[in-house]
Amino acid sequence: MRISSLLALFLMLLPPALAEGLPDLGDTAQLALTPQMERRVGESIMRDIRLHEPDFDDDPEATAYLNALGNRLVSNSADARQDFEFFLVKDATLNAFALPGGYIGVHTGTIIGAQSESELAAVLAHEIAHVTQHHMARMASKEGQLSMAMLAAMALAVLARNSQLGSAAAAIGQASAITAQISFTRDFEREADRLGFLTLEKSGFDVRAMPTFFVRLQKAGRLYENNAPAYLRTHPVTSERIADAQNRIQGLTYRQVPDGLDFQLVRAKLRADQGTSRDALAQAEGDLRDKKFSNEIAARYALAVALLRAKEPVRAEAELAPLMKTTDHPMFAGLAARIKQAKGDNQGAADGLKQALARYPNNRALNYAYIEALQQLGKNRDAAALVEEQLKNYPRDARLYGLQAKGYASLGKRLLQHQAQAEAYVLQGSLPAAIEQLQLAQKSGDGDFYQLSSVDARLRDLRRQLEQETKEAKEKK
Ligand SMILES: [Zn+2]
Repeated sequence: MRISSLLALFLMLLPPALAEGLPDLGDTAQLALTPQMERRVGESIMRDIRLHEPDFDDDPEATAYLNALGNRLVSNSADARQDFEFFLVKDATLNAFALPGGYIGVHTGTIIGAQSESELAAVLAHEIAHVTQHHMARMASKEGQLSMAMLAAMALAVLARNSQLGSAAAAIGQASAITAQISFTRDFEREADRLGFLTLEKSGFDVRAMPTFFVRLQKAGRLYENNAPAYLRTHPVTSERIADAQNRIQGLTYRQVPDGLDFQLVRAKLRADQGTSRDALAQAEGDLRDKKFSNEIAARYALAVALLRAKEPVRAEAELAPLMKTTDHPMFAGLAARIKQAKGDNQGAADGLKQALARYPNNRALNYAYIEALQQLGKNRDAAALVEEQLKNYPRDARLYGLQAKGYASLGKRLLQHQAQAEAYVLQGSLPAAIEQLQLAQKSGDGDFYQLSSVDARLRDLRRQLEQETKEAKEKK
């Protein structure tokens, strides 16, 4: 089941009675879905994805790269003020999709299959335009049965959060046969292409990537017919779109845009992470042997990743070492640490990460890795101090709270452990689980007066929030 059909799924699952019985939403033609409302809808779907979607890929290196690329494009889009979050879905097929409110999912297969960074940027720029032009909301605001149902589906997505209606993910499990997708209308596709092109150009990418990519997609579509990339179902590539894209590049001066090393390394890593470890290793070795690569450093890095996956850390280290001598990159430092850990050298891993962080203090993947390395060494106080410092910069980072909870557990501080775990759950969108953790914190018996009052206050606060949401859900039913 693909996340991309999530919205479609809401539609299908919606009983007709519910679609009709939404007087409070008013006349659909009049309804303007506010950006706040869109954000809430997107947020609630995103929460379900984070919590329940097994294919959600939270690889911090790849996610950081995707967001850096995405935000570079957003700053050259039609609405640079809109908040965006780009996330990865572990799926070998080519697809990308926008949820309302600026959440954009990208299948790992899209990055692996991209022939250049500009191609990936072209896909993202198109999705960004769907968001900045509020295409989802505009489709929902149109008159007609589908749009009414879709609007209700959006509302339902909001309601599903923490209510008895059940989570979207639970529904997904039962509806895997549904393959329907919402596809954008031709007008919206045309607009997304036009604005996406401008964004791509302003951001300094190779705009020829757009028609090239379309042509390749269309060929793939013909080749596989029934098994065509999902992207083609949601964003049908027509001859008209290809012609438009080709017309736009007419007369533009040729600009060679080299792929960034970050892109090359992330693509190499995702490729080496795909499929079985045996196949990934054979592929990485074959690519190097046959010189089937656009960048030798990335191809060698892929081999090191594949070797580590295949439980050959000694060979992995031998492959990585010469790369690190010539090129300094945080992803090399991260891989070097994982290799050392696989060899049982936790101290060496921590030392290497510490040195790398001196050069890249704000690299989140390295910070997570260093916190974990310190915890493995039993240096829980140092780890806790680093978590605190990171939380000042990223107060909405659930992973940091998870690491904090783990650290407190090792130190035997039960109140603080459950309190941190509660915050992780809040950020993941699960209020009931957070409340349960705070109740455990109350009963832990190892907190002082101030700690206990802070737990009590937070518990009251979360209970109020949950009550409010349940009430909203009932009113709308
Ligand atoms: Zn589209």
